[in-house]
Amino acid sequence: MEEKLIIDASRLDPEGEDVTGEVAAVDLDEEFVKPFGGVRYRLRAQLFGNELLVRGHLEQDFTLVCSRCGRDFDDTVHVDDFTMSCTVAENSSEVDLTEDVRESIILALPSYPVCAEACPGISQKVEIPRDDRWNALDGLSVGEKKTKEERSSKEKRKNG
Ligand SMILES: [Zn+2]
Repeated sequence: MEEKLIIDASRLDPEGEDVTGEVAAVDLDEEFVKPFGGVRYRLRAQLFGNELLVRGHLEQDFTLVCSRCGRDFDDTVHVDDFTMSCTVAENSSEVDLTEDVRESIILALPSYPVCAEACPGISQKVEIPRDDRWNALDGLSVGEKKTKEERSSKEKRKNG
């Protein structure tokens, strides 16, 4: 696997050339999106004058976390229409596509990944454990409270 995806425009076949390989993965500091392997690319690179045009397919494997049920699952993110063009500098014919490729993969990541279309979400079968403390309330009879206001009116006046 390469660290960078670099195309040397000066060595390209004038008729265009297929460029395939694998470049080091998108390194995301993200808990719910973990890439593994590299970005696989199948590209067609062609030079028009001093304009380099690159088009093709990218894919990257990820371990994602399902937004419905919270489980990890593996999925492959595809970019079918990767397109990039740039002017090739006269003093340097090497064009670094690494960041363009990574950016395209990140943009293709699902906002709400789902492990399966039919994922039912978090299981609702969880039983709430019975709390024995509530049993004590069952024995209480409500409505037998006595008012204690009678006693409060007995005040003595002191004659000093
Ligand atoms: Zn799920």
